[in-house]
Amino acid sequence: MAVFPFTAIVAQDELKLALELVAVDPAIGGVLVFGDRGTGKSTAVRALAQLLPHVKVVQGCQYNCDPEAEPGCVEGCPLAGRKKRPSVEAQVPVVDLPLGATEDRVVGALDLEAALTRGERVFSPGLLARANRGFLYIDEVNLLPDHLVDLLLDVAASGENVVEREGIGIRHPARFVLIGSGNPEEGELRPQLLDRFGLSLDVKTPDDIPTRVEVVKRRAAFERNPKAFSDKWAPKERALTSRLKQSRARLADVTTPDAVLERAAVLCKSLGTDGLRGELTLVKAARAAASLAGETVVSDVQLRKVATLALRHRLRRNPLDESASSTRVEKALEQVFAA
Ligand SMILES: [Zn+2]
Repeated sequence: MAVFPFTAIVAQDELKLALELVAVDPAIGGVLVFGDRGTGKSTAVRALAQLLPHVKVVQGCQYNCDPEAEPGCVEGCPLAGRKKRPSVEAQVPVVDLPLGATEDRVVGALDLEAALTRGERVFSPGLLARANRGFLYIDEVNLLPDHLVDLLLDVAASGENVVEREGIGIRHPARFVLIGSGNPEEGELRPQLLDRFGLSLDVKTPDDIPTRVEVVKRRAAFERNPKAFSDKWAPKERALTSRLKQSRARLADVTTPDAVLERAAVLCKSLGTDGLRGELTLVKAARAAASLAGETVVSDVQLRKVATLALRHRLRRNPLDESASSTRVEKALEQVFAA
């Protein structure tokens, strides 16, 4: 099925920036997208995955193991320890986690058929295995049971899925970027949970008429002839693919001057964000932004660019200031940079 090109998405600059940042540095953590239905959140994730450089995976491996890693398939993968297997190129996976998914389906479980018919204890991998080295997308993450969300955030942070039950003891790699969407009007998100997402943003249906017209025009053109539309955007897509590739390679060389670290600290302190997670994420995101901009030294420009994305979901409720979180971050930014 044809996927709408990422570079053809109209407006939604924050969403695109957030996705590009985590594509450059998945260690920034997951992205939480608030907003109306039908604003193309999952389209954007799929579109980004489509243009990312393909990953090499071990042929026939259900865990998307990296053939270039030593010693091939990791411990826990049934193919581990076997002689070198051929590798295939695959698109970066995007796995949808449906709301009704059971824990078994998510983490994997004993293959009942193998157990009943052949008496074998075989592990049947779940969605976390399929999402390895890609994206795990959850629509309406706020409606998912708490224990499942906690589990997902733990695995996303550790990069490993550990299953120990029903006589199974298995651990396999599950490195993915969690993308959650949520509508705060339909269910509150716990603050502890919010804090564990790297970035967050609000997606709205665009207000201005020309933008809305352009959205509809491009959609219609794509639906009429997906191939022709995609061909037209191919040069832009290729340019972004190579920019992301270069940014990833450059990331290791990006340095953050002390002055920038200090401003990040002052900003987080003035906003009263809990703990250091916000600050660490802010700095990581600023590094990725610098790399995307072709720079090797982080500057205030990047700090300002990513501050709202990295901090708006970490603010404590302030009864004296009920303005929206992003407005509070903007205000703090102005104060910090005016000093
Ligand atoms: Zn494997």
